[in-house]
Amino acid sequence: MSTTTIGVLALQGAFIEHEKSLQVCGAETRQIRLPEQLKGLDGLVIPGGESTTMGKLLMAYELLQPIKEMAKEGIPIFGTCAGMIMLAKEIVNSNQTSLSLMDIVVERNAFGRQVESFEADISVSEFGEEPYNAVFIRAPYIVSASPGVKIMASYDEKIILARQNNFLTAAFHPELTEDLRLHKYFLEMVTSYK
Ligand code: GLN
Repeated sequence: MSTTTIGVLALQGAFIEHEKSLQVCGAETRQIRLPEQLKGLDGLVIPGGESTTMGKLLMAYELLQPIKEMAKEGIPIFGTCAGMIMLAKEIVNSNQTSLSLMDIVVERNAFGRQVESFEADISVSEFGEEPYNAVFIRAPYIVSASPGVKIMASYDEKIILARQNNFLTAAFHPELTEDLRLHKYFLEMVTSYK
């Protein structure tokens, strides 16, 4: 069986934890800081962090266009937290740089300042009965989504997990818990693309 290599954008933010989760699931990982490192990837993870900084770095490192091209080819991309903001076509009250790939409108820090971070048991449509423990850190959420976007989970009536074709996005941090179901789900998307 050929190995699956997943790039993890490593400009800033929680990329090491994503690498660990992906490796436990059997994938190889590669830290991405330069455009040439994108070659031959089977999938890409955009981690949490600070989305304005990440957007600026994507521009500065000339990664914006090559990632958009990968996306157009159909290579799966998984964005978590700040990564969700990077994937969104629209960000409420902001014109910051993003990859602008998913037909979603997101709002940053949308769970309110007083609750900077929290955990919640959520129910994910694809994962059956067993709840998924989600860690939210100054999380965004999806304010609205086009009909082509599949909503996979909501919390407090806010959309926090969604998929559109080769794009998967979570408002929370799946790399900070032991539950690997979401990374496995993403790797299945990668396998069906390959
Ligand atoms: N609040 C951050 C932002 O807007 C995202 C937080 C995170 O990724 N944990 O960029």
